[in-house]
Amino acid sequence: MSKSQVVFGIAILAAIAIVMTSVSNYYLIAWGFSVSFFLFGMSMFLRLQFFVESTFRTTENNVLLSFDDGPDPVNTPIVLDILKKHDATAMFFLIGKKVKGHEVLVRRIHEEGHLLGSHSYSHDPKIGLWSKTRVTTDIGKGHEELLKLVPNAGNWFRPPFGVTNPNIASALKKCGLNSIGWSVRSFDTVKKDPKKLLEMLIQEIKGSDIVLLHDTQDLTVSLLEPLILELKGRNLTLKAELN
Ligand SMILES: [Zn+2]
Repeated sequence: MSKSQVVFGIAILAAIAIVMTSVSNYYLIAWGFSVSFFLFGMSMFLRLQFFVESTFRTTENNVLLSFDDGPDPVNTPIVLDILKKHDATAMFFLIGKKVKGHEVLVRRIHEEGHLLGSHSYSHDPKIGLWSKTRVTTDIGKGHEELLKLVPNAGNWFRPPFGVTNPNIASALKKCGLNSIGWSVRSFDTVKKDPKKLLEMLIQEIKGSDIVLLHDTQDLTVSLLEPLILELKGRNLTLKAELN
């Protein structure tokens, strides 16, 4: 769904609501609920780009593996070792409050040729409900933590939980950050069976996809090597590049 289709949809709904409202006030309440529900839906789907424009693709014949929620002192080094072994680079979206105490690890990610982005300071599940000031402080602080260690990290950001809204859009603009989405979501934080997840990823991933993974998950670490081998076997590259 494009932004113009969404705007067109709203215009149609508004026209219907105006007609209905002229009949009874009951419809005004129903309309209020519908708009709230619609906007909530839009805030949950980054892909619709309703509030924030994002990048969803890497270069042709390439797959960008992206790892959220680190740095993880146990799993991130294993992920880095596997990537290095297969001459692959990826992208890591770090949570600001986890950076402290793991400075060596963050520098290692950068030194080994991977791209880095921020993922807010707190990664609070209620971030979508916060005020403009609070969300701007949190997102800004999260990116500062990254820049303190890697000054040339750039301006990449991934919205926690993929949630966007006008306050988050304003925060990104104020902090000068660009949002990076994904085209394949692994759901590796909720799935339990690595074999099934690997099969799903093998089936879904194609050239130019950005894959959402988490380097906090043992499950993800366990399927990473076979996944890389499969993708390389299809002559896809695994490079930290954005389209
Ligand atoms: Zn996250």
